[in-house]
Amino acid sequence: MSNNPLIRQVHEKYKPIWALNHAFALLAWDLETYMPTGASEARGFAQAQLALLGQEKIVALSDLISEAQKSSNLSENDKGTLRIVERQVEYYSKVPSTLIEQLHRTATEANLVWREARRKSEFARFQPYLERLVELKKQEAEKLGYEGHPYNALMDRFEEGLTVRDTDAIFARLVPSLKRILEKVIAEGRYPAHHPLESEKYEEAAMSKVNVDLISLLGMPKDNFRLDVSTHPFTSGMAVSDVRITTRYEGVNFKEGISHVIHESGHAIYELQVDPSLEHTPLVHTPSLGFHESQSRFWENFVGRSREFTELIHPILTKNLPFVSTYSNDEVYRYFNMVRPSLIRVEADELTYNFHIVLRYELEKRLIGGDVTASEIPTVWSNMMEEYLGVRPKTDAEGSLQDIHWSGGDFGYFATYSLGNIIAGMIFKEIQRDMNFSETVRNGNLLAIREWLREHIHRWGGIYSPKELQQRLFGEVYNPDRLISYLEDKFLGQMT
Ligand SMILES: [Zn+2]
Repeated sequence: MSNNPLIRQVHEKYKPIWALNHAFALLAWDLETYMPTGASEARGFAQAQLALLGQEKIVALSDLISEAQKSSNLSENDKGTLRIVERQVEYYSKVPSTLIEQLHRTATEANLVWREARRKSEFARFQPYLERLVELKKQEAEKLGYEGHPYNALMDRFEEGLTVRDTDAIFARLVPSLKRILEKVIAEGRYPAHHPLESEKYEEAAMSKVNVDLISLLGMPKDNFRLDVSTHPFTSGMAVSDVRITTRYEGVNFKEGISHVIHESGHAIYELQVDPSLEHTPLVHTPSLGFHESQSRFWENFVGRSREFTELIHPILTKNLPFVSTYSNDEVYRYFNMVRPSLIRVEADELTYNFHIVLRYELEKRLIGGDVTASEIPTVWSNMMEEYLGVRPKTDAEGSLQDIHWSGGDFGYFATYSLGNIIAGMIFKEIQRDMNFSETVRNGNLLAIREWLREHIHRWGGIYSPKELQQRLFGEVYNPDRLISYLEDKFLGQMT
């Protein structure tokens, strides 16, 4: 596909790396879905060995990449290939394998301790592991190198080019606006904080029929897509022709299940709509987690929580969950859009969700910058929760122990959740230039929305960096004003 012989060589040598990633993804998916519990040690060993093999193959591309970079007349695809492979080569050449191994071992151990600590709600148990992980991540940042804040090196791993300066500026705009909207919504009681549908129980079989209708409405392709069950819902894109999502059945409060399926389908549609000619190359993946999350959030919130969409699925709900029949469209819409400041991130509503992210971003930045110690986390956490949302955790389990990320050593990840919402806001503004969005959703013409996203975002895979892709699409980068104006219209606008 490239005219440059060196790039063709890179693509040729990348094929086994693609295949290893494919195998790795399948093992990871199986681990969360069907693997018998007794197999975890063998699985861990196999995954570690495959990861090592992949690293060796990446580092072996180093000279070829440097050589190819000297070429003139590189196409956009060629430049994208070099950018992506160089980032991978750089990581494994700068961070010593002993440190990677230490991080991996500590994270495996920390994860087990975290589970126990969370169950008993004892932060003190987890604290020494958090300290150790922060120390190792600081070392990783030093090895990777950075300008300005050491946290920049860690965020860049998930969102290329994202800095503390960018993120501070984004949140400095977003937070006061969200506070203003939230205070007004609560003061005026515009959206309910509680709803009787929250406590309606459902049978798994009935809900699984809802899911079948839902994924058919979303147009998920039968031959390239699966829906299974796991403890935590996730999406695994193994190939452009093989994408899998999971959900869970909680037995009550069915909107959670609907949100899981729409959210993960948003991720899946992205993976399924990358240009098939990029398959087996380094370009086949999203440029960043923020972009990936923008897709899941766009479908979950901008489409899935709209009045038109709740009307569209009302017949699916009443057919399979008879208790919904006594509720009007408007009541179902209000159930999907309750606003209630709460302690748990994964249960947060559209309006309060970003506060949970700012809090984690601030804490991680301070931990990595040495401005706060692990032992201070529970108190700082509670104080910030109170400042942002007016609620204070009574236990560590509903405070600083609730998320898995730190125990896995994933520092630098959280901000991408909010970036996803922000990019989704930018998409929402842009897509309305090309279509009457409400009308399109009302008519159930979701294919038109999928097609728009394919054309503008999905097909490009990772050719452009996240900032370049935004610049091309929107002429601006991570502008939170689009999200703010969408939320203002939705939550403070004329109630229809
Ligand atoms: Zn997601």
